[in-house]
Amino acid sequence: MKFHQGKPCYLSKLRRLASCVPAIMFAAAVALAQDPVEPPGGPLKVKLLPAPAGAISLAQVHPSDLRNTISGLVSCGTRHSLSSWTDPKRGIGCGRDHIVAEFKKIAVGSGGRLRVIDDRFEVKAPRTGNRLVPMENVYAILPGDDPALAKTVFVVSGHYDTMPTDIMDSTSDAPGADDDGSGTAVSIECARLLASGHYRATLVFAAVSGEEQGLLGGTRLLHYLEQKGYTVGGMLDDDIVGADFAPGAPHRVRLFSGGGTVDDCDSPSRELARRVEEIDGRSHIRMIFRVDRLGRGGDHYPFYKAGLPAVRFTEPLEDYRHEHQTPRVVDGVQYGDLMKFLNFDFMARVALDNAEALRELAMAPAPPTDLQIGGAVTPSAKISWIAPDDPERAGFEVLWRETTNPRWSVFGFAKSSGEFVFKNVSTDNHFFAVRSVGKNGARSIAVPAVALMPRKR
Ligand SMILES: [Zn+2]
Repeated sequence: MKFHQGKPCYLSKLRRLASCVPAIMFAAAVALAQDPVEPPGGPLKVKLLPAPAGAISLAQVHPSDLRNTISGLVSCGTRHSLSSWTDPKRGIGCGRDHIVAEFKKIAVGSGGRLRVIDDRFEVKAPRTGNRLVPMENVYAILPGDDPALAKTVFVVSGHYDTMPTDIMDSTSDAPGADDDGSGTAVSIECARLLASGHYRATLVFAAVSGEEQGLLGGTRLLHYLEQKGYTVGGMLDDDIVGADFAPGAPHRVRLFSGGGTVDDCDSPSRELARRVEEIDGRSHIRMIFRVDRLGRGGDHYPFYKAGLPAVRFTEPLEDYRHEHQTPRVVDGVQYGDLMKFLNFDFMARVALDNAEALRELAMAPAPPTDLQIGGAVTPSAKISWIAPDDPERAGFEVLWRETTNPRWSVFGFAKSSGEFVFKNVSTDNHFFAVRSVGKNGARSIAVPAVALMPRKR
């Protein structure tokens, strides 16, 4: 290592000190250029409740379950959405049968609380040849215990349809082990991990069709939930979560979230991503601040566009020889989405990340609403919000972050809704938000504060 004028800093103590003086002086000059301390007295003392007890452990997740699910799906040859819905051996109907059978097995273990629904619908789109065609989504629904939150759903979803190289080819083999047998297996494994538990809100474990034909099943899932009067508290889309082939594995799963369109105020999807990262840990979740991979989409997209909290899990890197490819060998290279490229230990970790996020979110009080920030052109920022009465809520964590910081920190705690004053804190140097905290330690997603006054142009 070299410093100024090429003088090395590793000789005698004296010489080292002398040659490093300019560097020390420079560092001191940088240190002097501080930002104003906000609040002036330093951070408030806040006692944080620990996360809810009873976290799911990796030992509870069974890679063999994931393997069995995907093996059953792959045995159907193709699960193209325009293939047969009635042939029990080949086609997407064969895939549906496997999923329904697995959910029903889990339902037995839930004491009959988990309801399995085969949601049949018809849809017309460019990738159905503009013909009205039948499709089916499968849902396993675990109703929430708390009447005040039972109409709020937290959803995990994978798509069980597949495609070979040609999107309209419904007859060639399209095993779809990774895309999206993996996401379907994760959704079913989440049901297995959570179905015997009790949560305040409702959990929906979904396996949808028609993704490759234009997000048709995901869009249907959203409409189904709306028609049933549910509020979507959070939607986790798992699509291509089965492999981790890059050198240096294991790697973190990627979590994509769109930023929204409101100035100075991130979308509910971004807030969901932050919450999931907090629950599962930075060592497991790699937040990617974009709605999806470049030029590509997934079933979280219709939810995101509807302004709902929705994110996408995807493996650390993708191998495009193994996605959307008819299985074949060319010049010694194997193409096709085959089981042999999957990593079931990686997938088990993704299942755990999903299940634990669902568990904590479904135990949390409802997020606050009507977050507003005022106090512009005054010394103190003021945040106000409202929230329904909830005897299980301990209070609210008031959050802030540097505008360039991707993550929230807790600024203060309020026992009840109303107005919180950040004394001698500028409205302009940070973003602010509030979230609900249960007596059990479960947190809602954060709700960012929107400016009270319209921006002057
Ligand atoms: Zn996919």
